Amino acid sequence: MGLIKLLVFIAVVFAALTLWRRLQSKRNNRRSSAATTSKPMVRCSQCQVHLPEDRAVRDNQRWYCCAEHRDADHHD
Ligand SMILES: [Zn+2]
Repeated sequence: MGLIKLLVFIAVVFAALTLWRRLQSKRNNRRSSAATTSKPMVRCSQCQVHLPEDRAVRDNQRWYCCAEHRDADHHD
């Protein structure tokens, strides 16, 4: 009886761990998706608008919201 109880206990613990890991991975997926939406923001040197870094146009040390503003800043 003692061995069967031990096997049942191990099975319950294993099932609980598997379930817990699934819940944790779901939470991690939510966190990673949230992290992708909150990307580093940069400011356009021309119009001061804030936008995600991957959508901005970079020129040396400055950031711009679009190529037009980058070119306009060069003309000043
Ligand atoms: Zn701009």
